Amino acid sequence: MVYCLKKEEWGARELIRVFQKGFNYSQDGPGNRLVWHLQGCNLRCPWCSNPEGLELSGGREYTVEELAAEARDSSLMFFDGGGVTLTGGEVTLQLSRVKELLTRLHEDGINTCVETNGISPALPELFPALDLLIMDVKHYDREKHRAVTGSGNEATWKNASAALEAGQPLLLRIPLIGGFNASLEDAARFADLFRQIGVPGRARVELLRYHEYGRDKYKKLGLAYTMDETAKVPLSVLERYEEILRASGIEVVRT
Ligand code: SF4
Repeated sequence: MVYCLKKEEWGARELIRVFQKGFNYSQDGPGNRLVWHLQGCNLRCPWCSNPEGLELSGGREYTVEELAAEARDSSLMFFDGGGVTLTGGEVTLQLSRVKELLTRLHEDGINTCVETNGISPALPELFPALDLLIMDVKHYDREKHRAVTGSGNEATWKNASAALEAGQPLLLRIPLIGGFNASLEDAARFADLFRQIGVPGRARVELLRYHEYGRDKYKKLGLAYTMDETAKVPLSVLERYEEILRASGIEVVRT
């Protein structure tokens, strides 16, 4: 289906840059969801599986109206509690348009979800229009986070606390990367921090083991892929990690 605007409307409206879109079941929020991957990211995680979405240029531009219309026309597909998920890249790089779009979808009764690295201090602006916030928390230690991703993560933890205080439905995701955050001592440190900010009983946590889905894309883009076998995490370690979090009263899920 093609979503057209009258010519005079184009210049007057801001655009959202998207590098990939499609339906996905339950991995990016509940039910069957229309998932838009927004262009650009403010981190450079070496395991990123979407290297084509990291730069601000590229992708295709859509108006808020076009995307809202696409969501409305897809509503029969939103079964099992589904809806729309905005992910990236990092959605907050296009915050004002994202806020406008989410507000529009929310008003239309469409279930909304955002996946974010939480680095933007302006993230709480999106809470009123969000049914679910999925936030990546990659490390409990600011300097280790900075050394590997290129940025500290103070704002991420502050935003997680703000979401909990606001009663924002929240799923915290740890990408488990061997040699970075996947030891059982790391699990205990995460559990301590989750307890400190009040996660038990108020938010869920999910662990996602490192995978190599992005490897071929790096080659195609002429980029170096720096991850190796040591990043892989055995299932037995994942299970122990989950046990340590559960022992702290944290609800751990697998979606
Ligand atoms: S925050 Fe996400 S999109 Fe950005 S580089 Fe890291 S893994 Fe990739």
